[in-house]
Amino acid sequence: MSELRFDSVSKVYSGTTVAVDDLDLTIEDGEFVVLVGPSGCGKTTTLEMIAGLQKPTSGDFTIDNEVVNEHPPQERGIAMVFQNYALYPHKTVRENITFGLKYTTDLGASERDEKAREVAELLGIEQLLDDKPKQLSGGQQQRVALGRAIVRDPEVFLLDEPLSNLDAKLRTEMRAELQQLQKDLGVTTVYVTHDQTEAMTMGDRIAVLNRGVLQQIGEPTEVYNEPSNEFVANFIGSPSINFVPGHLEDGMVTTDHVSVDVTGSLIRPYEGDTTLGIRPQDLRKASPDEASPTFTATVRVLEKLGSENVLHLDAGDLELVATVDESVLPGIGDSIELAVDEERVHVFDDEGKSIKY
Ligand code: ATP
Repeated sequence: MSELRFDSVSKVYSGTTVAVDDLDLTIEDGEFVVLVGPSGCGKTTTLEMIAGLQKPTSGDFTIDNEVVNEHPPQERGIAMVFQNYALYPHKTVRENITFGLKYTTDLGASERDEKAREVAELLGIEQLLDDKPKQLSGGQQQRVALGRAIVRDPEVFLLDEPLSNLDAKLRTEMRAELQQLQKDLGVTTVYVTHDQTEAMTMGDRIAVLNRGVLQQIGEPTEVYNEPSNEFVANFIGSPSINFVPGHLEDGMVTTDHVSVDVTGSLIRPYEGDTTLGIRPQDLRKASPDEASPTFTATVRVLEKLGSENVLHLDAGDLELVATVDESVLPGIGDSIELAVDEERVHVFDDEGKSIKY
């Protein structure tokens, strides 16, 4: 079991590329934290500093309050699972799982085989122990890679986009399995992905990174409901949030399309240019006697998803997306009145920082 802590950690490559910028982050013992952000935001570099594959340029990385900046990977009690599994093609599943144990423990061959069997049972691949990787499906190979990590009883589990090579259905299944496995093992886990759905559904907390800078860390629902800035609001949530430019004065945000009263909901005084953020899920068909602010928009595209419909709309030169109930079925080109509850609207200042949270 381990607590991981970054204190003002930066990592600069070749003297110029700031991959991680002044990171302060504590990952609690036994916690499942997902690092999420677009390509190049510094996720892998952060993970590699935990693993000991990269050293911080400045600041301290500690495991259980001990600074380990200079400690090599093998002294950290960490197991890492990569996107490409990196299995040995000519070895059996059993040999792939036990290979590391041969050199890092003094377990005999039969004890190693026993451990391989236990781990394979845990992962539901015990019938595959004598097979070679090329005989396995992608999901089975992924389980072998996990088995190879679990068999070492690591203090910390690091996963770098481990599901990205799987098809969509298997990915969803493996998400749930991995989550369950992590809870059963209780191992501190850091998981890297650029997929916001994976982050939202898997982490106890998610840490959103952009250009090497930590934007926000919190429970998934907190990050979704109370994004600290426009980047987080835009990155988390699907379909993406709608942004509407406007102006805030006397507690009222006025835009070309809608006016929203934000009196009493701001955490600091602000007046000036502002952006409203409205999630597609927060737009609904207005009722005839609607009390909430409304948009008038024209339907451009309608996507039927079964339990809901996604409307792509034009309101003047503004493009909007709304996720509405399956019973709302306007025709293409129809005009529709959409309402939003004032308390569900996010408000950002002229630097993109939230004025609500
Ligand atoms: P991706 O999702 O594409 O893997 P990432 O969020 O994991 O991206 P990193 O791989 O940590 O991001 O890269 C962060 C930045 O550091 C990028 O600009 C990248 O080009 C740069 N970088 C990463 N590794 C090195 C390296 N070994 N040498 C020089 N620059 C590097």
